[in-house]
Amino acid sequence: MRLDHLTLETFRNYSRQEVSFDPVCNVICGENAQGKTNLLEAMVCLSTGKSNRTRSDRELIQFDAEGFQIQGEIFSRDREFSSRIEVGYGRKKKITVNQVPAKVASDLSSVLNTVFFCPEDLQLIKEGAAARRKFLDTSLCQLRPRYAAALTEYQRLHEHKTRILRDCADRPDLIATLPDFNLRMAETGAVLIHYRSRFVKLLSYYAAAAHSECSGGQEELSIQYKTVKTVSDPFGDHRMLVMQLLEHQREHHYAEVSSRQCLSGPHKDDLEVMLNGVSARSFASQGQTRTAALAMKLAAREIHKEIIGEYPLLLLDDVLSELDPKRQEYVLNRLGNGQVFITCCEEDRLYALLSGKIFRVSGGVVKEQR
Ligand code: ATP
Ligand code: MG
Repeated sequence: MRLDHLTLETFRNYSRQEVSFDPVCNVICGENAQGKTNLLEAMVCLSTGKSNRTRSDRELIQFDAEGFQIQGEIFSRDREFSSRIEVGYGRKKKITVNQVPAKVASDLSSVLNTVFFCPEDLQLIKEGAAARRKFLDTSLCQLRPRYAAALTEYQRLHEHKTRILRDCADRPDLIATLPDFNLRMAETGAVLIHYRSRFVKLLSYYAAAAHSECSGGQEELSIQYKTVKTVSDPFGDHRMLVMQLLEHQREHHYAEVSSRQCLSGPHKDDLEVMLNGVSARSFASQGQTRTAALAMKLAAREIHKEIIGEYPLLLLDDVLSELDPKRQEYVLNRLGNGQVFITCCEEDRLYALLSGKIFRVSGGVVKEQR
């Protein structure tokens, strides 16, 4: 798949911008705070319906403007598509694909997928579980509409249950509503576990291959899915998963009421990343951490290719220059597969290495250089 043309209106620091991209490689350079990341963010919005940097759509509206529009001309599944997002102007958020209103944001993902990689992701290995869950969710929401729907429902139930737990000290009658929430959270939680377990199996496979190649066959990476303790087999059938999630909730009922927090469920899931048999989170060096994070992102790209049949857009934000020459070479050797967008600073030597188009961004204006 590829993004051929992008139009922005009062989005972040772009007033009005149209850009036509190269089908293979696009280098976007410019000084700090000119709009490089904003441009990639617009592409993420076009593939997921929301920003990767903020939960608030309002933040994306240019200061003093009424709303923003993003439109992309996309080629995927052997066809041309036009995806469009409109936010603000005193109206409800509007998403269309080929002028047809989308029912859910994930309709955008059936047309365009992105894998975004930025310097903070280099910490995917060392940070807390939330970063790794976000990585799982971002990939799976694009790949599996049923997962996206289950995640939205699960988050809604989780918020509601958390409110009940918070308020039930003053209103003990609320405790009687918990069993209903628990059952619905177990039902939707089982769907999340079903998809996550399968995704992580593929992730472990592809990331191990990438990591091994990148480390000259010296290191072995493995990734394991860690979910609710009572779940004996995350690949088990739906009924069994639901029963086991309910069992865990029962065991934690008193702890939840006394701590006023929702302690049981796959919102606590994590990935255990191991390098040569020991925990990468505890023991990996900086270089190993970088290689492992890079391997996970490139693995996500391969999984998209395996499931969708096409490579997603690879968005590399400021990240190539942070990698040493060996890892750079590893990434650059893969650029023939699918369309790539790379941001970097002015004096970067990278663009001598790259073919395709070069753009210069300055003060929210993009100009094609080559
Ligand atoms: P760096 O090299 O430092 O990463 P960048 O080119 O990636 O820089 P961006 O993150 O794209 O920079 O941001 C560019 C500018 O956009 C910032 O100066 C920021 O203040 C501005 N900006 C962010 N949101 C808005 C908005 N809603 N309206 C107007 N300007 C905004
Ligand atoms: Mg940036």
